[in-house]
Amino acid sequence: MNRFLLKIWCLSLLITTGINSYAQDDMLCVGYHWTPDEANLKMKEFASSWHDRQTWENRADMIREGIIKGMKLDQMPEIKGNFNAQITNTREFDGYIVENIRIESFPGFYITGNIYRPSNPKEKNPAVLCAHGHGENQRFKETRQYQGAVLARMGAIVIAYDMVGHGESHQVTSHSIPVALLLQTWNSRRVLEYLLSRPDVDPERIGMTGGSGGATQTFILAAIDDRIKVSVPCVQISAHFFGGCICESGMPVHKSKNHQTNNVEIAALCAPRPMLVISNGNDWTRNTPQIEYPYIQKVYALYDAEHKVENTHFQAEKHDYGYSKRAVMYNFFAFHLKLNSGRVTWSPTVSEDFVTILPESQLRVYTDDNPMPSDAIMGDDAIMNYLNLK
Ligand SMILES: [Zn+2]
Repeated sequence: MNRFLLKIWCLSLLITTGINSYAQDDMLCVGYHWTPDEANLKMKEFASSWHDRQTWENRADMIREGIIKGMKLDQMPEIKGNFNAQITNTREFDGYIVENIRIESFPGFYITGNIYRPSNPKEKNPAVLCAHGHGENQRFKETRQYQGAVLARMGAIVIAYDMVGHGESHQVTSHSIPVALLLQTWNSRRVLEYLLSRPDVDPERIGMTGGSGGATQTFILAAIDDRIKVSVPCVQISAHFFGGCICESGMPVHKSKNHQTNNVEIAALCAPRPMLVISNGNDWTRNTPQIEYPYIQKVYALYDAEHKVENTHFQAEKHDYGYSKRAVMYNFFAFHLKLNSGRVTWSPTVSEDFVTILPESQLRVYTDDNPMPSDAIMGDDAIMNYLNLK
């Protein structure tokens, strides 16, 4: 989709879904909110507002508060534990195990996903959250299965889970529920907390990755929750593009009466935790080596952690999470999560040949024998009534 069509699509999506009743129009920064030229000047303006660790942290606190209040995360019910996890259909393959999992996000609202875990686990293992981007049934695609299986074979416990309104997440009327950004962030946090609740997970080695809209979920959660220790956002962080979907920019997380920021600064809130920024030459991340990455690295330098943030830029590639991008992600997690990269073969980079690609029917949580729970809240109105957001 070209830039003009994407902007029209973004605007029509927001108008048709009635977003205006949840957020003031002038506080939303949607899609291509700035041109690359404007964004370059904005980055200089942002940079002039801090000059040392203290002044950056003052700004970081303001940005973090803007995200939390902008998406109304502070209004979510207090829920501790109560995951009511249901794990089904455990299967063992070449060095890894696949399972289907359902956990409760809040009473009556369920997260559906798949676990990929090592055949020979240690007592404590690293874990990785895999969020996905836009497109039908992305959780079941080969990319997700490769990611899960390779990381699992190297020793990680991986959960790939559905965006709201995609895959098996159909309690919302559609993905365009105006609070999609809130629900997805909340779901990601619940997946994180479920992993932390498992006795076989090492809380000091938790990673998260995703491409495109999955990268948005990744850098948003990593920004507000330091229990994500390592992150790999792929093809999304941009100074001028704010995310085209309601689940990325449909709530005012970038701007309030008191501040203005963008996804570069939100990603920089990860500092000094290790982060690999993957970019390419064919979308809104094409300027990353010149604009986005230098800014983030300056923030990491405040913590003497320049070596903990990396950028791998694929100038000849496009907007995807293809093999070459997965390969650098595997290496980054292998180093920072202390995975055993000797458990996979190299030819010359990590081989995915051992992975058994499963049909969608075998990855689904809900089947005729295992339907959605009878207490499931159905439809946007029922969900909004339950949440009772101001
Ligand atoms: Zn979306």
